[in-house]
Amino acid sequence: MQAHRASLLHFLEDPDRVAEEDSYEYFEDGLLLVDEGRVVEIGTSEQLLPDLPSHCDLVEHPDALIMPGMVDTHVHYPQTEMVAAYGEQLLEWLETYTFPIESRFSDVDHARAIAELFLDELLRCGTTTAMVFGTSHPQSVEAFFEACEARNLRMIAGKVLMDRNAPDDLTDTPESGYRDSKALIEKWHNRGRLRYAVTPRFAATSTAEQLCSAGQLLKEYPDVYLQTHLSENCDEVEWVRQLFPDSDNYLDTYDGAGLLGRRSVFAHCLHLSEPEWDRLAETHSNIAFCPASNLFLGSGLFNLRRAVEKISLWA
Ligand SMILES: [Zn+2]
Repeated sequence: MQAHRASLLHFLEDPDRVAEEDSYEYFEDGLLLVDEGRVVEIGTSEQLLPDLPSHCDLVEHPDALIMPGMVDTHVHYPQTEMVAAYGEQLLEWLETYTFPIESRFSDVDHARAIAELFLDELLRCGTTTAMVFGTSHPQSVEAFFEACEARNLRMIAGKVLMDRNAPDDLTDTPESGYRDSKALIEKWHNRGRLRYAVTPRFAATSTAEQLCSAGQLLKEYPDVYLQTHLSENCDEVEWVRQLFPDSDNYLDTYDGAGLLGRRSVFAHCLHLSEPEWDRLAETHSNIAFCPASNLFLGSGLFNLRRAVEKISLWA
């Protein structure tokens, strides 16, 4: 058993739902007791030090703040090297920066090196869990999970599904995407602290057939996650409308394939129509959004107020 002495901060509730002072606990001179890797007690040093068991090591962290690790709900590890590349709009940005850098992940040694760099950076910022996109190469996810397992990290990740509107060396097919994802799920999902997310990049780079094969995976493995993008940029919304003339709206391209639900995370969601808000709330689907990314690429702003209203209507 170990006792860590430092300032401690942790959160108890959403500060939107309770009075701010009831939403967290802070101990200026705190003690955190850990037994076999699990937190067993937390409090002030004054309270806990006198009764510390004799077999417990006391570790002092003067001038340090200890808090639970942060969780990133949407990140692309292959893009680590291009963080802050010139902020064009989404579709040009994909073509000019993202796709060329993702092509390099056919080389598993490159994937391994970037996975290590990504995890170093993530942990350096205090983020200990993330929902992570690989590339369309299955080996990119193999390399990532291997690196996470070596560090015993809790991570959710998946191979990108992309069978059109991308360079040839980055596209799969509905069949190969399904097969590769299935093999990765069988090997990695629920292995230690790792979980799998079925990962169609977005509706513009997957055919309806491929989206259906993603839905098929969710049916076969009901406890895997789903991650994709939705309504980030106005040109993208218009493009998806042209690609799926029979769908009612952007979200409907995913809905028809059975991709909505409690384990599904849709990134951005900036330009949603009313029926899309309702359907996301009704199916208890999740939204990941990032003001820094959305301002950087000039995509727009997320309507947090609307999201909170919808959640309370459907909760
Ligand atoms: Zn993204």
